[in-house]
Amino acid sequence: MRSKLYINGAWVDGTSTAPVYDPSDGSVIAEVALAGEAECEAAITAAHNALPEWSKTSPRFRSEILRKAYEMIIAESDAIATLVSRENGKVFADAKGEVTYAAEFFRWFAEEAVRVPGDFRKSPSGDKRILVTHQPIGVSLLITPWNFPAAMATRKIGPALAAGCTVILKPAGETPLTAMAIVDVLERAGVPKGVVNLILPSPVGPMISKMLHDPRVKNLSFTGSTEVGRVLLREASDCVIRCSMELGGNAPFIVFEDSDVTSAVQAVMAAKMRNGGAACTAANRIYVQRQIAEKFTAEFTKAMSALVMGPGMSTGVNLGASVSLKERNKIAELVDTAVKDGAKVSIGGKTPEGPGAYYPATVLTCEKNNEILKHEIFGPVAPVVVFDTDDEAIALANDTEYGLISYVFSGDLQRAIRTAEALEAGMVAINRGVISDPAAPFGGVKQSGLGREGGFDGIHEFLETKYIGVEI
Ligand code: NAP
Repeated sequence: MRSKLYINGAWVDGTSTAPVYDPSDGSVIAEVALAGEAECEAAITAAHNALPEWSKTSPRFRSEILRKAYEMIIAESDAIATLVSRENGKVFADAKGEVTYAAEFFRWFAEEAVRVPGDFRKSPSGDKRILVTHQPIGVSLLITPWNFPAAMATRKIGPALAAGCTVILKPAGETPLTAMAIVDVLERAGVPKGVVNLILPSPVGPMISKMLHDPRVKNLSFTGSTEVGRVLLREASDCVIRCSMELGGNAPFIVFEDSDVTSAVQAVMAAKMRNGGAACTAANRIYVQRQIAEKFTAEFTKAMSALVMGPGMSTGVNLGASVSLKERNKIAELVDTAVKDGAKVSIGGKTPEGPGAYYPATVLTCEKNNEILKHEIFGPVAPVVVFDTDDEAIALANDTEYGLISYVFSGDLQRAIRTAEALEAGMVAINRGVISDPAAPFGGVKQSGLGREGGFDGIHEFLETKYIGVEI
């Protein structure tokens, strides 16, 4: 297991170390190296020095390294998923699903590396030719969260390397081991030294701020909370660094009265409970039309009560621990406030005794103005709200600063598409609980972010467009 920093092609110690915990029992899994100023500076220098050669390699060369890394991750997926489950707390099946999803970003961007389009045409007045090409932005700082420690890293590293950028990855403090395993794969797949670097700066805020004021850093790709995203946008503005921001969400899930209730419950279970509810895409506000509300809530409560909570690596368990006691306590606090605000608990709602960062599957029924609906929950808690008209459902769904993803369930596709078009979200799922796909553009509107990852757009987050006007 890797536990050091990776700078200029070498695994190195830092200035100090920090423990990584298994949240299912609080035990220490590893001590990881932390980067001080010298290591952060060395990572920038390494990425900067490696850039000229790497950016000139052929797209096919970069593509084949990514393809090899994809195959290695698939071959080693059990070991990597074990690491994900242990440091994150999620169940092994979710971890395995994440690792496959993570590998797919390398496969997708191995294919995209060789397909970057350009343009050559006559200007409207006929006075010149318009040549449009794309060039790598340069040294990119990639900051990732703890909830998908493998996929959030590959979703950034894949397009960056495909585009010809060099990178410095800063994974979340709770889950650095998975990121180290991914970088280890890339090293073995043949990534030249200096092209990929990994640091864990301490203290994180001041160190990242310093890096964002180094003129050699040209691009920031961040996935995490809206709160930290706002801070980083301010930091990046001093040097006008290009930013891609994948931030928080507070997804509504609308279930219309013409839905097949059993299928709707299955989709809500997937949308709410993937990753134990710790997903930016998690359904956090479940709006159900009055005619089917009672039946839906009864079936949904039954499905939630069938979940078995326990250590992520244990067989038969389908709800693991949260990443830390701090995160678990945030979930408990939100539920307590919701109950004080009038929410009724159908199941769950009580913090278990004993070790481990557990919180049970919880269904709440509440009024449309309950405090919990204003917050990203990031845990296995599902507030259900009854609505009457389509317009009311759309207004409730859009009543948030977030705009990452929305879900619509209906037996009438026209009604579902009409609703999807009215929803303020970067992504809408119709009659499905999960739509994330490396081949599709992932991202939000409003305060859920800027830019898109994956799909055809993903590589362009790491490319500058250059226009060359040619006299002919
Ligand atoms: P977070 O607290 O914002 O942290 C994300 C990353 O930022 C971590 O690596 C963290 O490092 C780092 N960080 C924290 N403060 C910083 C600062 N002042 N300067 C620079 N970096 C800083 O988010 P999280 O709790 O890890 O993740 C959950 C959030 O991520 C949720 O809001 C979720 O919706 C969002 N998310 C969004 C997407 C998306 O695609 N839109 C995907 C996944 C998650 P430390 O860990 O060392 O503090």
